Amino acid sequence: MKVCKFGGSSVADDVQVAKICDIVASDPARRIVVVSAPGKRNKQDTKVTDLLIECAGRCLTQKDPQEVLEAIVERYAQIYRGLGLDKNRETEGVLAEIRADLEQRVASMDLSNAARFMDSMKAAGEDNSARIVAAAFRARGIRAAYKNPGEAGLLMSDDFGNAQVLPESYDRLANLAFDAEREIVVFPGFFGVTRKGEIATFPRGGSDITGSILAAAVKAKVYENFTDVDAVYPVDPRLVPEVSEGIAEMTYREMRELSYAGFGVFQDEAIIPAVKAAIPINIRNTNHPDAPGTMILHHRRARQGSVVGIASSSGFCTLYIDKYMMNREVGFGRKLLQILEDEGISYEHMPSGIDNVSVIFREEGFTPEVEGRVRDHIMRDLQPDNLQIERGTSLIMIVGEGLYYTPGMAAHATLALFREGISIDMMNQGSSEISMMFGVQSSHREAAVRALYHAFFKA
Ligand code: ASP
Repeated sequence: MKVCKFGGSSVADDVQVAKICDIVASDPARRIVVVSAPGKRNKQDTKVTDLLIECAGRCLTQKDPQEVLEAIVERYAQIYRGLGLDKNRETEGVLAEIRADLEQRVASMDLSNAARFMDSMKAAGEDNSARIVAAAFRARGIRAAYKNPGEAGLLMSDDFGNAQVLPESYDRLANLAFDAEREIVVFPGFFGVTRKGEIATFPRGGSDITGSILAAAVKAKVYENFTDVDAVYPVDPRLVPEVSEGIAEMTYREMRELSYAGFGVFQDEAIIPAVKAAIPINIRNTNHPDAPGTMILHHRRARQGSVVGIASSSGFCTLYIDKYMMNREVGFGRKLLQILEDEGISYEHMPSGIDNVSVIFREEGFTPEVEGRVRDHIMRDLQPDNLQIERGTSLIMIVGEGLYYTPGMAAHATLALFREGISIDMMNQGSSEISMMFGVQSSHREAAVRALYHAFFKA
């Protein structure tokens, strides 16, 4: 059995939903279908999830949500009319159901817990997508049913907006395999329910996680993740337009590192359930279903030193501390991290030297007030010789199995950056066997990626 996940661009309109029906109908092993909320139809368009966030925001600030609500209903109505679901006795009620569902969510607004209300609104995007896609199958005479994640047993922690799956979900979700023998199961991505039955969502892009969880639960042969590119490319084609050849095979570890560092094709947390259950992931294109896409597996035959991809992402801060004899001071690292923990800051990397340490964390939420408190606490509790906090750091990651065993790779990379006049603020090699990471000023990000791409793929 295959689990197929279709992203936002694959459910953006009636033409795309028809492609989903064709793809699923063309392979009898495709039995479980996970869908995102309708995404952008063009560059100017707005994703349904973003409309839902706006709608929820209006409710929470006592503004009239009606206009946004109508815009959301219209997105589904376009699919409904375009596929002729209004003309089919079996499916004609689905749009009314969607409208009622959205109105009911708005009506059940609860100011006492804004995050919980926000999640119940955000989840409406995928929930109604699944209703309409199931109807599209039925209108074609294919047996299919919408499945509610709560009823199916997808249990989540109650960190609204950032929830994680609870381990007992897997056993419960395994029963979907029986449902899928009878009919195509259409399952909304992105959310589940807490033990109290409240809706909770994964982080943004979380439908990939749902697909991976279901694939692991039913022990699927493969998890097919349909998106709008033919393959995962070794570098972002927006930065390096000449990149033409996609990656045929990569390992889970490589994908995890690349998606962490900015490859948007696959949500980075979504790898984990598939890895644990050893399910291969196949990234494919809804608009070009014959292309083999990228296969993500446990092992691949990696050439020595081969780099599979180069990713970059901005929005980091670097906190740099210098203190003579830091290496002899027991508890220094713990105290430093405690100061960050007290402010709710999760650190990403912490390269260190004898008398110095850098901590890299995300800039988001690091307001000037938070920065002021962090500085004061560090000066008071750690008494450093020097403390610097720099914003606007970008991380560049060079990833490939076998990188670790090949001498000269770091020299190759630093030489390429040096030739472009790019100064390296931080370098981390060796903590991960399969990647090398550089911190550079964000204004140098694009040039750095291009230089490294040419050094590793074109030289
Ligand atoms: N619709 C959600 C988002 O835009 C989840 C997803 O598409 O994976 O983040």
